Amino acid sequence: MSARPAGAGGIQQAANPARASDIPSLERLLSSETALALTAEVGRGRLAGILRQVLDQSRTRALAGELAIEDLADSSLLDQARTRLAVQDQPRLRAVYNLTGTVLHTNLGRALLPDEAVQAVVQALSAPANLEFDLDTGRRGDRDDLVEGLLRELTGAEAATVVNNNAAAVLLMLNTLANRREAVVSRGELVEIGGAFRIPDIMQRAGARLVEVGTTNRSHPADYENAVGPRTALLMKVHCSNYAISGFTRSVGLGQVAAIARRHGLPTAIDLGSGTLVDLTQWGLPREDTVREAITAGADIVTFSGDKLLGGPQAGLIVGSADLIRKIKKNPLKRALRVGKLTLAALEPVLALYRSPERLADRLTTLRLLTRPQAQMRQQAERLRPVLQQALGDAYHVESTAMFSQIGSGALPVDQLPSHGLLVRHAGKGRPGRALQKLESRLRELPRPVIGRIAQDALWLDLRCLEERDEAAFTRQLQEPRP
Ligand SMILES: *Cc1c(COP(=O)(O)O)cnc(C)c1O
Repeated sequence: MSARPAGAGGIQQAANPARASDIPSLERLLSSETALALTAEVGRGRLAGILRQVLDQSRTRALAGELAIEDLADSSLLDQARTRLAVQDQPRLRAVYNLTGTVLHTNLGRALLPDEAVQAVVQALSAPANLEFDLDTGRRGDRDDLVEGLLRELTGAEAATVVNNNAAAVLLMLNTLANRREAVVSRGELVEIGGAFRIPDIMQRAGARLVEVGTTNRSHPADYENAVGPRTALLMKVHCSNYAISGFTRSVGLGQVAAIARRHGLPTAIDLGSGTLVDLTQWGLPREDTVREAITAGADIVTFSGDKLLGGPQAGLIVGSADLIRKIKKNPLKRALRVGKLTLAALEPVLALYRSPERLADRLTTLRLLTRPQAQMRQQAERLRPVLQQALGDAYHVESTAMFSQIGSGALPVDQLPSHGLLVRHAGKGRPGRALQKLESRLRELPRPVIGRIAQDALWLDLRCLEERDEAAFTRQLQEPRP
């Protein structure tokens, strides 16, 4: 494993220099014997465009005295074209190894789907399906029907609908229920969730007027009570996904908020964020309120993500009372925010796994990763340590060490999972910062980039998300000599 070769065009003076006038014409090159195969492969138009770039670069190098006569052989020019085509054809979206220690990493695509979901997506991609077609009646159907039954069964809600993500779910819910009216939220819950999702901004875009109650650290039932007026549309709770306040704090529980709302004939909505469907403490994970608990506590509407703890595709799920869900589905924005068939194809089998909670930790990828035994990761680290040490050479020192992973995506950052991985330090003298950055970028340049994290003058590679079935390919890539 070494750094990529520099692009064509060194800075040495050519021994046998070519002049710009030696450069062949595009036409001649295109009709040459050597170009035939490549033309057949990519088409004449595309090849012409690429060869024009190659010839332009040759001209620049010739003028600088850096171009050798040999560089102008047809085979050399076409090789350069082939290299450029390969670079262009490299997909922009690529598989990486997530060794950051954050299981639900938003920038790396969050939840990985179980095989059942992958198969269902492949099928939906390649065959027509009854997306909005009722197979019982032969009439037009509703795409939400594909998962509504499961969502009702798993959450105890009366009805459900699905949109593009949870941000869309909150937007649609507020716009439907609180447009030009007031939504009451505690100041302690006016959160910003990574990358521009802020409750006050979403409120404004939804047309709802935000009425803040309480203070940052403390809210009381009377605060909600006093905020209710003739323009109030709903009371809302928001899960403080990514931050925790401690010390002199108090918040009003969902049950109490719902009771106040009910007394005034108002609905209560809660944005649960991650919104898990099962009690995670049975696997030793931190406690999260489940969607069913929110419904039982009196929420009329619950919104949550499909690709956080739920472990499914990106989606926003809205469950709640039949009456409010009906209104939400009639909002024209629903049409703009609806999900495609791939999302529904993936969502259904993921939800179905929740029918057998005993087997969930095996079958739901996210949960399997979150519950991986530390000993398994330690053994893996011991296997991989010499491989990585060999690949990196003497300039770095690799050790196997215990570390902590995070759930990510709106689970509390203070809840850490004991994990194991590899720690890489710079072995030479001098400041380690530059050397670590260089190492990090070398790992990013691998065919399947390896993403870790730099902290405390070391590169941390948490092995939690490197499942054993991927280990052989991971090792092979480190062992392969790179040009
Ligand atoms: C993550 C999160 C969102 C945004 O959900 P997306 O599915 O990423 O759009 C909204 N609210 C809360 C509380 C969250 O944790």
